[in-house]
Amino acid sequence: MNAPTLVMIPQADPGAGYRAQKAEIDAAVARALDSGWYILGKEGAAFEAEFAAWLGAGQHAVGCANGTDALALVLRGLGIGPGMSVATVSHTAVATVAAIEMVGATPLLLDIDPDTYTMDPDELASVLDHPPPGLPPLRAVIAVHIYGQACDLGPMLDACNARGIPLIEDCAQCHGATLDGRMLGTIGTAAAYSLYPTKNLGALGDGGVLSTADAELAERIAAIRQYGWRERYISSLVGINSRLDEIQAAILRVKLTALDAGNARRRAIAGAYDAALAGSSLAPPHRRPGAEHVFHQYVLRTEDRTAIQAQLKAHGVGTGIHYPVPVHLQSAYKDRTPLGPAGCAETAKAAGEVLSLPMYPELTDAQVERICEALRGL
Ligand SMILES: *Cc1c(COP(=O)(O)O)cnc(C)c1O
Repeated sequence: MNAPTLVMIPQADPGAGYRAQKAEIDAAVARALDSGWYILGKEGAAFEAEFAAWLGAGQHAVGCANGTDALALVLRGLGIGPGMSVATVSHTAVATVAAIEMVGATPLLLDIDPDTYTMDPDELASVLDHPPPGLPPLRAVIAVHIYGQACDLGPMLDACNARGIPLIEDCAQCHGATLDGRMLGTIGTAAAYSLYPTKNLGALGDGGVLSTADAELAERIAAIRQYGWRERYISSLVGINSRLDEIQAAILRVKLTALDAGNARRRAIAGAYDAALAGSSLAPPHRRPGAEHVFHQYVLRTEDRTAIQAQLKAHGVGTGIHYPVPVHLQSAYKDRTPLGPAGCAETAKAAGEVLSLPMYPELTDAQVERICEALRGL
């Protein structure tokens, strides 16, 4: 007899998210197609209003083409450009750093706290007090809430506010996460969200959105995203083209209705993984007190990554690495991107040890149990 074939559980599965809401999504796409209006129309405006209302805290939302553009649009809207530096981390999607260079500014890459993988607020305070020699003046900070959990925002905001420097939240991985009861993305000057298919709120194509409580800033950025137009064909500002299309906006309106339940399901799956790891050699991910995690990723840390990955694979469990090479060690950035005094040492160490388990709301109870069974054996 043949051994039963082991069906791999993928680490991410955006198709499952579509299938879970297929009838509603198909109807929304048909509505957008039938409307005869495909870019910046009723669906986009409704998505912006619904997303802003979901965030609360007096936010205004502006849709755009992707999360990288959302960050770059926020920077442009704040007047950040050539001759200025922006501090962020190297332990992030390369997009965060790419957005800074897209507007002509210089990224300054700081190290992380090894437990939460987020920016070390002491190093931030130190570079604000003593900027590295030769660095253009620091004019903004991008805080990355990596894996779905908040940065240590309190001291970071204190450091920025004391110097009148805007703090921008990179919320590409944290839609719906909170810190001390406040929704991430509503705490800093402005926030940028990716709507890439695998994100907690994902389109079925590219998409991005940004938010701010500053109505004037939102209005300026909305003009910048379309050639600087405030009226058709007339550019009152220098702009770019970064629009969210009507089909994606219609899909996102459906997806938004499932976001809170999806985040709750992610937390329940994380709880099951935590319990399964109790008897193993691996520790569950650290939770920051006061922060509600939305588990964009459930990340383990191990010096035996290759062996653990192989063991999980043998049990049919797919894994991912977010991210295998930190930005400052990638050939496009290496040896030319300024680092903070810590030299990103913890970042480099983490990149060699992090391992992401399967994590999406559509994982079935049976799949979660199979993954837990594999974790108990580690
Ligand atoms: C996904 C992601 C982005 C970029 O988003 P795109 O939509 O792919 O441009 C930016 N920052 C972080 C932290 C991300 O995870």
